[in-house]
Amino acid sequence: MNIDIKQFSALQKASQSSFFEQKKLLKQVMLGKTVLCKVCKQPLKLHTPEQAGPTGVRCVKGCTDISLDFA
Ligand SMILES: [Zn+2]
Repeated sequence: MNIDIKQFSALQKASQSSFFEQKKLLKQVMLGKTVLCKVCKQPLKLHTPEQAGPTGVRCVKGCTDISLDFA
């Protein structure tokens, strides 16, 4: 398989911007703001270590699933 360098750098850029977007989103959720999932438009919920299950920010349907490391 040949890797197109231009495609590769475009991919890198995309993942980098989504990383910053995720950080911004996490910050808003942690501040107690209501942030809606881009896909299902349901509010995202913050899952902390005090709650059962994996930690992170998720919507009810699971299309947004950002895992968070609280450690
Ligand atoms: Zn969703």
